[in-house]
Amino acid sequence: MGNAEPLREEIISFVLDRASRNGDFVTRAELSFPMPNGETMPLIDRSRGIRNPREMAATISVVSSPDSPYADREMEDGLFHYSYREGSINGDNAKLRRAHELNLPIILLRKIRDGVYVPHAPVFVVADLMEKREFLLTLDESVRFLASSNASAPERRYAERIMKQRLHQKDFRGRVIAAYQTKCAICRLSHGELLDAAHITPDSDELGVPVVSNGLSLCKIHHAAYDKNMLGISPDYEVRIDHVLLEEVDGPMLRHGLQDMHGSKLILPSRRTDQPDRDRLAQRFSKFLNRAS
Ligand SMILES: [Zn+2]
Repeated sequence: MGNAEPLREEIISFVLDRASRNGDFVTRAELSFPMPNGETMPLIDRSRGIRNPREMAATISVVSSPDSPYADREMEDGLFHYSYREGSINGDNAKLRRAHELNLPIILLRKIRDGVYVPHAPVFVVADLMEKREFLLTLDESVRFLASSNASAPERRYAERIMKQRLHQKDFRGRVIAAYQTKCAICRLSHGELLDAAHITPDSDELGVPVVSNGLSLCKIHHAAYDKNMLGISPDYEVRIDHVLLEEVDGPMLRHGLQDMHGSKLILPSRRTDQPDRDRLAQRFSKFLNRAS
């Protein structure tokens, strides 16, 4: 009688809501669910990549590391290939098999740095390949049928592309906003729901790769202003506002949100490798200067 499981729905909403407030990531400490009876249920296993709560019929979460050498293989054919845990085909794997049999959603936690994860949910187990010792997961119900074995090769390629895009976009967003500790790099606004992971070299450019040093955590207004070259960031991390805008007179958003930012210094991530790449900034900045002149 494992159907429904209202608790599972509550847990998934809890995790997604927490992640949304942070900017699409959760810390290990936050992966702890307050149960109605006053106890807390850990939603991630301390040592294993799979969390099988005793109280639940099936697995609640699995962990994957996008930086592992197997990451690309994990995403073949538009489905996520999750390898069985070591040992027998049962053990830890039995409860993930239950999630498949009962069609219960789980959470896929992508580890983006120590103790920090990007959650993807609801994720469904769509196949259990005992001979290959792996489960196939779908991250997106809308491409589930395009990824099935009955689908044509072009359909499967399409499903693969969609899934990689979703996964990379969300992981990039989580990585960038986590690096800036949920703050806009320009105005310090600290509401994850109002933050974006902006690209410095646009993702439409082939050099616009989704690495943190090609990203900036910006609030919606500053992101849009940066994309429209109304706001520039110099390679020395200084914020500039377009001179036409500087002379306009309007309400408080223009005044405080934009004009007051002119000449201020960008807030930087503490890890050097996460800081914005100066060459990329310089290239973007030249576009801002060309517009301004
Ligand atoms: Zn801002």
